[in-house]
Amino acid sequence: MTDRSQPQLASLSEKPLIEMQQIVKTFVNAAGEFTALRGIDLTLNEGEFVAIIGKSGSGKSTLLNMLTGIDHPSTGKVIVKGVDVYAMSESKRSLWRGRNLGIVFQFFQLLPMLNLLENVMLPMDYVGMYGIDERPKKAMELLRMVGLEEHAQKLPRAVSTGQQQSAAIARALSTDAPIIVADEPTGNLDSRSASHIIDLFDELSSRGKTIVMVTHDPSMTKRTSRTVVISDGILVNETIAQALPLLSQALMKELSEKVEKIHFQPSETILRSKESVEKFFMIAKGKVDIILQGRRKEDLVISQLSANDFFGEIELIRGGKSIASVRAAADEPVELLAISREDFGWLMKESPLTEKAIGNIVQKRLEEKKQADRRKKRKLLGR
Ligand code: ADP
Ligand code: MG
Repeated sequence: MTDRSQPQLASLSEKPLIEMQQIVKTFVNAAGEFTALRGIDLTLNEGEFVAIIGKSGSGKSTLLNMLTGIDHPSTGKVIVKGVDVYAMSESKRSLWRGRNLGIVFQFFQLLPMLNLLENVMLPMDYVGMYGIDERPKKAMELLRMVGLEEHAQKLPRAVSTGQQQSAAIARALSTDAPIIVADEPTGNLDSRSASHIIDLFDELSSRGKTIVMVTHDPSMTKRTSRTVVISDGILVNETIAQALPLLSQALMKELSEKVEKIHFQPSETILRSKESVEKFFMIAKGKVDIILQGRRKEDLVISQLSANDFFGEIELIRGGKSIASVRAAADEPVELLAISREDFGWLMKESPLTEKAIGNIVQKRLEEKKQADRRKKRKLLGR
């Protein structure tokens, strides 16, 4: 619960840039029908660096193809910068894509008869970016950035797979598009080159570009501002994925369908001390104060929890009434995801790792509470 990317998020502008609404994609072929995306709702904000993770075959590449307008959804809408991507004609969409998106394909798709420099210049030619004389210089700068300056004149087949991948990344950056979409961009790179590419993406996102990166490497998500998990064509609730990262993706998905959303106004009481607790709560939005009441009924805030933290587990695990009051913080409303006692019990049984991790947190919190109680006592005794 400590590796949290949420604070970074809060500082972003939170302007919706990409909106996917109820996307369904069914492939029809000789073998029959297969639904690869089953109702995807996803909003991405400007400047976010998003990792999309999920097992092989879960629908990651299909999802990217919906976003880039390369393939079309069976039903649903994709809105990018206010523009309905699939309301455009094919030719308009292709120009729109060139101007707005830099795409790194899973299998690079460099043109084999063009050298790396020419490959990088190609999108510039297509959208008419920079003067003709300027293009080689700009393309060379990009190749330098990904460490390929010395290979600029070589054909793709004359360099390594990793170098081809780096060239594909340089090409995606060539028109300075506001959105970079990359399908497993570090899949063929050694860890040093991979980390260099992530640094590059990180820098681009801090300059306001939006980066959407598919990866099957969960460790990459430490570097992104947000992680979206897809499982069998369904998005896993992001709060669940962050709050309970040790659950299997299948369990995350199952749990996503069981949670109940509850809203509280600023300063509204969520749980009273000594009340029985029947739910496990995860914070989706906002902050909550954990409060002990002093002898003279004054409130002592002993801690504040924020997005992706949880509470209620102590009472569910140990039985008994709430050991403190919980209240929505004063400055903003709170959105919680609640799981019933029964579902919580099921979850602990299904995921021993999660049970252990939560057990550790219970211990830590009880210790903190003890210390807070002691402080309170000392204060009362005037020591
Ligand atoms: P991922 O990128 O997560 O590995 P994909 O998005 O490529 O997964 O594929 C998701 C599912 O859709 C897979 O089961 C795949 O076999 C199927 N699929 C993808 N493209 C097609 C297609 N053109 N025709 C039929 N099935 C497809
Ligand atoms: Mg894929």
